[in-house]
Order: sequence, then C-alpha cells, then structure tokens
Amino acid sequence: NKQVIFKGYIVGIPKETDMEIRAGSKFKVEAPKGSGAFVVKNLYLSCDPYLRGRMRDFRGSYVPPFVPGSVMEGFGVARVLESDNPNFKPGDLVSGLTGWEEYSLIQKTDHLRKVEQNDMPLSYYVGLLGMPGFTAYAGFYEVCAPEKGNHVFVSAASGAVGQLVGQLAKIHGCYVVGSAGTSQKVDLLKNRLGFDEAFNYKEELELDAALKRYFPKGIDIYFDNVGGAMLDAALLNMRNYGRIAVCGMVSQHSQSDPQGIHNLYCLVQKSIRMQGFLQHNYQHLHARFLEDITGLYKQGKIVYVEDVNEALESAPAAFAGLFSGKNVGKQVVRVANE
Ligand code: NDP
Repeated sequence: NKQVIFKGYIVGIPKETDMEIRAGSKFKVEAPKGSGAFVVKNLYLSCDPYLRGRMRDFRGSYVPPFVPGSVMEGFGVARVLESDNPNFKPGDLVSGLTGWEEYSLIQKTDHLRKVEQNDMPLSYYVGLLGMPGFTAYAGFYEVCAPEKGNHVFVSAASGAVGQLVGQLAKIHGCYVVGSAGTSQKVDLLKNRLGFDEAFNYKEELELDAALKRYFPKGIDIYFDNVGGAMLDAALLNMRNYGRIAVCGMVSQHSQSDPQGIHNLYCLVQKSIRMQGFLQHNYQHLHARFLEDITGLYKQGKIVYVEDVNEALESAPAAFAGLFSGKNVGKQVVRVANE
C-alpha cells in the first residue's frame, strides 16, 4: 500500500519535498470484524489549496493540522473493496475524505457520500460535483445575491471553483470577467468557459487600472479567491451596494506576514457587503446543487476543465503546483483506473 506522507510543518509555499512516498505495509488493508469499517481502493485524489492550512501547527482552524509522519488526507473518489459496514457494500463508489494512498481503511463516514452510478465522469466528484463545485454554487447564489445584468469579477477564475462561478454568473445573465496567471488560462476563460473578458494579472502593472478597463462603470460582485493586492484593487472598483464574497485567499496562505488591505474604507463609502463563507455551512443545499449542476452539465450549458496527473507519486508535485498556478483547471490525481 503506497502512501504519501506529510513530513513536517512548513513555512512558506508548499514544496513537493514537504511530502514523501512511502512503500507502506506489505500487509493487506483489512476491515476487522465488528469494526463497522471498510476498505476502499482510491481512484482519484483531489489537490485543494485548503490543505496548506493543515501543514502548519495551528489548531484554531476549522480543520486540524496534519500529524508529521502521517498519511496525507483529502477528498477523493474510491471504490469499496471489502466492508464490515452494511451501508457500504463491496463495489460501491464513494466520495469524501480519504487517505493519499492506494488503499484506505475508512472508519468514519461523516465526510463520505455514496456516488450514484450515472454517466458523469467519476473524477467530477472531487471537482464539478465535489467540494469546489459546491463552493462555487453556494458562494455565488447564497453570498453574492446575484441579479441579472450584474457586472461580476472572479479571481483565480480558471481554477476548480472560479471556472464554475463564472459560468453560473453567465447563465444568470451577468457580464463576467476573470483574472488568471497565464495567457493559456486567459484563452481558456474567453474561448471555452464563456467569460466575456479575461486578463492575465501577472502582466498588469496596475491591477486598479486593469479593473477600470474591464469595468468602466464598476463591479457589482467580486468573487474573491485570492485576497491581497487583487482584493485591494477590487475594493476601489466596486459599485455602490456591491457584494464581495470572500471565498479564499490563496495569495496569502503561505505568507508569514499577510499583506495589509488599504482600501477597506470603500466598504463604508459605497455600502459594500463583504462576506466570508465556508462551503460546509451550506450542506442543506447539497442535494439541489447535485441536481442543478448535473442537469446543466448534461444540457451542455456548463463545461468543466480538469488537470489530471497520473499516479499517486505525482500527488506532491501536483499539490505544490497549485501555489504557482501550474494547474490548468481542477487539479486531480488519478491513483488507479476505474
Ligand atoms: P484553483 O484550482 O483555483 O488553484 C489555485 C489557483 O490559485 C492557481 O492555479 C493560481 O491560478 C492561483 N494562485 C496561486 N497562487 C496565487 C497567488 N499568489 N496570487 C494569485 N493567485 C494565485 O483552487 P480552487 O479553485 O480549489 O480554490 C480557489 C480558492 O477558493 C482558494 O483560495 C481556496 O482556498 C478557496 N476555497 C474556499 C472554500 C470555502 O469554503 N470558502 C472551499 C474551497 C476552496 P493563477 O494561475 O490564476 O494564478
């Protein structure tokens, strides 16, 4: 059972070498009789920026830190191999928290869902139909209070969350602009994901000027995935009564001294509502989310771009790549064939 091990707490941007591959035990992973546990074969693992938060020794977060020397844990899609739990039978497909390893013993099922066999790609259960897709759905509809005709700005727009936010905003009748870190991603946003405009923030001398170019009359909704300088520039460009959904701050995750925001006075001046949110507080919407997004996908109204790395060994590099923008679309690791 090959495993990805978290070596120890880190400072700064995650590196591939912060994790290592361990051959693991020769013994078969088994579910002891009477344990209620079951064994899964992991098929897809998800690389998510929030895992950076588990790599530091800080207990005040909503997720506990990893234990140095233990197996990395994250969202995945897996098949049940053997089971001592009557609710999960051999052959069942599940998505939720699992280990970064070939086989996992699952003892707690509170973060696990059965995947109903349908013709959606299985890897989507950690992307479009998984946690990032749900974040986009809950964040856009519940936090942004969107209205038809609104001018919407999305940062990290080609990523797992951003690409769906932009497409939902287009379906809602909004004008949508995204920012991303390469010309390939800008091209993807404009030509495949249906954004009205997109720009490479790394090529802009002044983010404020870039936003003024795309939003001469201002921004109604800013869906913030990055924080930092982009948030500061967006504040200056918000319209009166605008909404800022603070989804994440990927530019700040690895900074020991996070950047100050200078333009918060705009919140008062323009009566802006700025709200942070965590997707897991919206679970009551989950069934509707699956139905709506599956429906839109099957009608060809949305697409989803993934970046799939092959083999468990590629997981450390794939994860580290999130913090330099190496991923084009949702970063997934294929551990085994379906
Ligand atoms: P992505 O797929 O968007 O991958 C991360 C992307 O962030 C990179 O590809 C890169 O894109 C961009 N990035 C990396 N470093 C920087 C930087 N220093 N400055 C600006 N951009 C950077 O990740 P997700 O879609 O999974 O997550 C997006 C955000 O949503 C994250 O902040 C994450 O923490 C947050 N999140 C929040 C949740 C919640 O419940 N609130 C749940 C899930 C995610 P580029 O090339 O464009 O720079």
